Amino acid sequence: MRLPIVCPQCMKDDVGSAHPFTTMEWQDEGRYEIACPKGHTAVTILQEQKFELLFDIGAYALIDGYYREAVSSFTSSLERFYEFFITAAFLEKGIDAALFSKTWKLISNQSERQLGAFILVYLAELHKTPMLLSQKSIEFRNAVVHKGTIPSRERAIEYGQEILDQVRPAFRQAKERCPKGVRAAIFQHMMQSRRTPGEVSGTMTTPTIISLSRDDKSYNERTLDDALKELRRWT
Ligand SMILES: [Zn+2]
Repeated sequence: MRLPIVCPQCMKDDVGSAHPFTTMEWQDEGRYEIACPKGHTAVTILQEQKFELLFDIGAYALIDGYYREAVSSFTSSLERFYEFFITAAFLEKGIDAALFSKTWKLISNQSERQLGAFILVYLAELHKTPMLLSQKSIEFRNAVVHKGTIPSRERAIEYGQEILDQVRPAFRQAKERCPKGVRAAIFQHMMQSRRTPGEVSGTMTTPTIISLSRDDKSYNERTLDDALKELRRWT
């Protein structure tokens, strides 16, 4: 998984002529140390959240024929989305970010606890029950992830589409209901990517299939199948 890199200083100097000069492997921390051919050095932070990146990793795995890995990444994307939703809801209420992180650690190793928290926070925020994975898909996921079942491409796409159909509306509702919290959660993620204060020169973004930064309806309503056809591979 690689990301096209544009030098932030070259962008500042002349945005029209700046273009990707290299690609880098996706980093877990979202932090990229850049040295461009003109001698500029910079640290930039990728704005995309874990759930956005993990969903794309699943999509690339589908294209490459690794269907088990696709199911696993889609599952992780959904779990990290739960975390993002809960974080945004609490930060919207003005809960201190450090206190939230410390408290989250009490449930961060147990996905069932996180799912329970998501269901109740969703109910509290939106006054309705969230859409969750169907029993059929839970059994499918468990068979793939825990029992070594080899899924077909078709079933893996169906599973990814089900997750897309859950995350997109919940995410849109989070943006409407908790706009401050969503911005604070993104900011918190970017702060965590810094190693020392003041080292970061800028941020960058990449067009993931689930995207916080894209507002256009047609982009956000594409099926997974259609999104796969448009997925660009950087080498
Ligand atoms: Zn440069």
